[in-house]
Amino acid sequence: MDKDAYNGALKQAIPRRIREAKTVTAAAVPKYPEQTQREYKRVSDAYMKLVQETFKEYAPRIKAAIRNEQESSKRNDSLFDLQRAIADTFQEMRDRLQERIDAFDLLAHLRKVGENGKKLSTKQWKRLVKRTLGVDLLDDYYSGAFFSTELEQWVNDGVSLIKTIPQDSLDAMENIVMDGFVDGKSLTDIQRDIQAQYGIDKRHAAFIARDQTAKLNAAITERQQKDAGVRRYKWSTSGDERVRSDHKKLDGRVFSYDDPPVVDSRTGRRCNPGQDYNCRCVAIPVFDIDELNLPLGRGDES
Ligand SMILES: [Zn+2]
Repeated sequence: MDKDAYNGALKQAIPRRIREAKTVTAAAVPKYPEQTQREYKRVSDAYMKLVQETFKEYAPRIKAAIRNEQESSKRNDSLFDLQRAIADTFQEMRDRLQERIDAFDLLAHLRKVGENGKKLSTKQWKRLVKRTLGVDLLDDYYSGAFFSTELEQWVNDGVSLIKTIPQDSLDAMENIVMDGFVDGKSLTDIQRDIQAQYGIDKRHAAFIARDQTAKLNAAITERQQKDAGVRRYKWSTSGDERVRSDHKKLDGRVFSYDDPPVVDSRTGRRCNPGQDYNCRCVAIPVFDIDELNLPLGRGDES
């Protein structure tokens, strides 16, 4: 379809009352992708569980070595032996953990999370356009290669952010055992410290899952909206008590994708919704009717 034919078809498809308004803000607020976030967290939890499984497998050996040393009469000689035994055990654990990591295929898991997130976001976008402009969008326009660059970049980012957390966690545990032992801590205390370390690392991975979900949503939304001829959006926060004050100030105001507002008054950093750390804000598209470039669905083509 050439440009004139397309414009004609689009005008026919959009009800006159909306056309004459020239500028229309979307009739609904895009939802934050909670489901994608849950799926990502499931992956990060399962990935971190590999550390726990590995540690559990070797814990009896470490405990036995420590008990053995504590019961020994010649402490100084056996301390050296114990340190070697622990170091050797942790080296085996690292190899075992690496086997588990290789079998897990983090890349494939994150690709699936990303694909599902894209599907959800596209479905929502179509519904939003239908509700606001009364237009049906082409069903398969956004499938296939449309987001492949964004998606692949996002998957790779996610992998490099959490890839090393399990091995780093195991390294930290080795230090806890070594130091704890040298400091004369009890087995119970060492075990408690290990649990605490695992909790910290698991939360770190979960934080990345949350943050990466928002980034995916932001990237897809921006691409979808800009491709459709949308240049501006209305900032929308999630409206709960966790919204930071710098973002609260932006709520309900209209900005341009090419000129994002300051999201951090301390550093002057500028971002579109969802791009800031752990930001759950979304962009409500503002449609300028004359700028629209929507992939029209079959029902609206002439
Ligand atoms: Zn925000």
